[in-house]
Amino acid sequence: MTDTSSTPFTTTNSGAPVASDDHSQSVGADGPVVLHDHYLVEKLAQFNRERVPERVVHAKGGGAFGTFQTTGDVSAYTRASLFQPGASVQMLARFSTVAGEQGSPDTWRDPRGFALKFYTDEGNYDLVGNNTPVFFIRDGIKFPDFIHSQKRLPGTHLRDHNMQWDFWTLSPESAHQVTWLMGDRGLPASWRHMDGFGSHTYQWINAAGEKFWVKYHFKTNQGIEILSQAAADQIAGEDADFHIRDLSEAIDRGDFPSWTLSVQVMPYADAATYRFNPFDLTKVWPHSDYPLIEVGTMTLDRNPANYFAEIEQATFAPSNFVPGIAASPDKMLLARIFSYADAHRYRVGTNHAQLPVNAPISSNSYSKDGAMRFGFKDASQPVYAPNSFGGPHASPERAGDDSGWESDGELLRVAATLHPEDDDFGQAGTLVREVLDDAARDRLVANIAGHVSKVTIPELRERVLHYWAQVDETLSARVAAALAPSAPGADVSAEEAGIPA
Ligand code: NDP
Repeated sequence: MTDTSSTPFTTTNSGAPVASDDHSQSVGADGPVVLHDHYLVEKLAQFNRERVPERVVHAKGGGAFGTFQTTGDVSAYTRASLFQPGASVQMLARFSTVAGEQGSPDTWRDPRGFALKFYTDEGNYDLVGNNTPVFFIRDGIKFPDFIHSQKRLPGTHLRDHNMQWDFWTLSPESAHQVTWLMGDRGLPASWRHMDGFGSHTYQWINAAGEKFWVKYHFKTNQGIEILSQAAADQIAGEDADFHIRDLSEAIDRGDFPSWTLSVQVMPYADAATYRFNPFDLTKVWPHSDYPLIEVGTMTLDRNPANYFAEIEQATFAPSNFVPGIAASPDKMLLARIFSYADAHRYRVGTNHAQLPVNAPISSNSYSKDGAMRFGFKDASQPVYAPNSFGGPHASPERAGDDSGWESDGELLRVAATLHPEDDDFGQAGTLVREVLDDAARDRLVANIAGHVSKVTIPELRERVLHYWAQVDETLSARVAAALAPSAPGADVSAEEAGIPA
């Protein structure tokens, strides 16, 4: 029997010693269990409440802490303290899949979340990006529909290829991101071996108040590594937590992953005359137009000590800006600025920013009360502004009130008019024809055909081929040829035809 004389004694949540870790209170040794066994009730009730709601998207993920070190000099473009030459800040990164639930395999084909929180001396700066520089849609009003199409059917609770391809083909702005997703980089070998992007266009403001538009690129210093579809499928069955494990074990053995941050910088006035809408999240800025400018390095070197407290309860919000960094007219970004902070108020609670993982280095806000509030000010401190008792006051010189942009002022519900001639397929076609090599194009054809082979509606398959024809005629023809044996009604199964699942 274990000697317990030197171990601490168990208590209830309110600190009183408990009589047994093994036995409920009952009426006689074999009789009914009583309701006033408050310790039993507390244990079971607490257990029922161990989960907070999982994230509707990006539910499955992992992360680690580290440091961001600014090595370049971008002070001409931003006054943000974390990006001044030589600055170093503590940070947290969380990586994730998008559509899968908690417990779903890390190696399903999906974009990967790349969410960062920098604990700066001017407040927390969050950059909530992905491992892709673009996205499926360009207006947040479509986001719930998009996610519903990638999740599960309401009746069967099954994911559904008809639903996915129906949404994508009816939303042609998705073509660039779907091309990316079906290509090699839709299956990263690990989170350490993928790039990260801020994806949106953001605004930087320098010390003189001059504005610039920027895009963030985090290049992996481990090199890009990918999984084949077959390997990803096998790993999904053997180890659903493959990517969480990889990151955790790498850090444990001192093999700290790092990424080099570079930015593309567009002078403020260029946006009006650039050849396409630079605020459209479905497009990249070609490197030849705006080359990468190195900013610094992020290195992850500390695993969370408690997954729930430090990763599950971590709340990243694109609304967490710091002076010198602000929003842009990107409509998707403007929608996310509302929806992320709102998700955290619902999921973790209105006081989520008080939790150690989310807390800034210091704060001076007038927000008070709400569920689970534990921080409070001295009773003599005013709880409103303005006040005559020496309470905190707004500081426009610190915050800067210069982060706006011109707008035509008329309230409308239409597509952006900056470049009505912009197309949805051009950059996807460039990716296929000019970036991929022959072998990568072969894998793209096989991946698309494998995915579309599960589409069971003939008219939808036709629409899918038309969608790909607008990206690239040859690609579409090759997908059609690969798909033919798996057509609904064909007497050869996709598997027999050699199309990967
Ligand atoms: P560049 O030739 O300057 O850059 C090509 C980019 O494509 C590189 O960033 C490269 O990343 C990336 N890439 C390479 N292989 C793949 C792949 N299998 N899947 C996705 N991306 C890949 O070209 P442009 O800047 O003129 O852009 C051309 C096309 O490249 C775009 O239409 C876009 O699809 C894609 N792209 C562009 C990016 C940008 O910000 N300009 C960023 C990423 C992709 P790496 O250096 O790691 O190999």
